[in-house]
Amino acid sequence: MTETTTSSGGPPSLPMQGVPQPRRDEVLHLPRVHISSHPVMRHKLTALRDKNTQPPEFYRLVKEIGALLAYEATASLALERCSIETPMGPMVGERLAGGIGVTPVLRAGLGLAEGFREVIPDVQVWHLGLRRDEQTLRAMEYYNRLPHKVDLQVCYAVDPMLATGGSAIDAINVLKRRGIPRLCYVGIIAAPYGLLKLSQTHPDIDIYIAALDESLNDVGYILPGLGDAGDRQFGTY
Ligand code: URA
Repeated sequence: MTETTTSSGGPPSLPMQGVPQPRRDEVLHLPRVHISSHPVMRHKLTALRDKNTQPPEFYRLVKEIGALLAYEATASLALERCSIETPMGPMVGERLAGGIGVTPVLRAGLGLAEGFREVIPDVQVWHLGLRRDEQTLRAMEYYNRLPHKVDLQVCYAVDPMLATGGSAIDAINVLKRRGIPRLCYVGIIAAPYGLLKLSQTHPDIDIYIAALDESLNDVGYILPGLGDAGDRQFGTY
């Protein structure tokens, strides 16, 4: 277990030990928070959480859940009219107005980004590496492949576990500096603590999740959660 020593030289403490956490019902109705209620999502989520689900199946489920979340999170995107010809003649159709970006927070966000690509194949993928310092639970940026030219109508920061909120908040901070008109966060499971922090720090973004769990344990893992989403996708136990 990860332990930190206190600055006063006192006994080691765990990063979330004794930290007050909001209850689930206190954050359930936050503005701009969308929690999926789709039965197929719930079914897949149960398979994902099961400790007997092995990495190949786990990764496949993350992708499928990513595709379902992408479908929900893109429901209000802007369209523009365009003229096309069907084999029967001309018509005015609609297409997505402006580019769509997805920023997987490495590495756990990769499976979710793949799910987005299945729904919108020409999505731009902007990789962002944020590592969680296990002692302070702060996010540290170690990789950034965001393009200089921005022509997106929306960008989705994707990271499966919204635990303390540190990486999600930092990812949105990084994307905000790029001047993208609309930003969203998409995750699989949130803890009330991280959800409240993200929503309070960035009240101007939409947050899409598949489930809201009970709490964080003393080292910042979500309960009941699913364990480590990166390790379970990539088999690095
Ligand atoms: N990251 C994970 O992968 N799982 C958690 O429960 C919390 C953070």
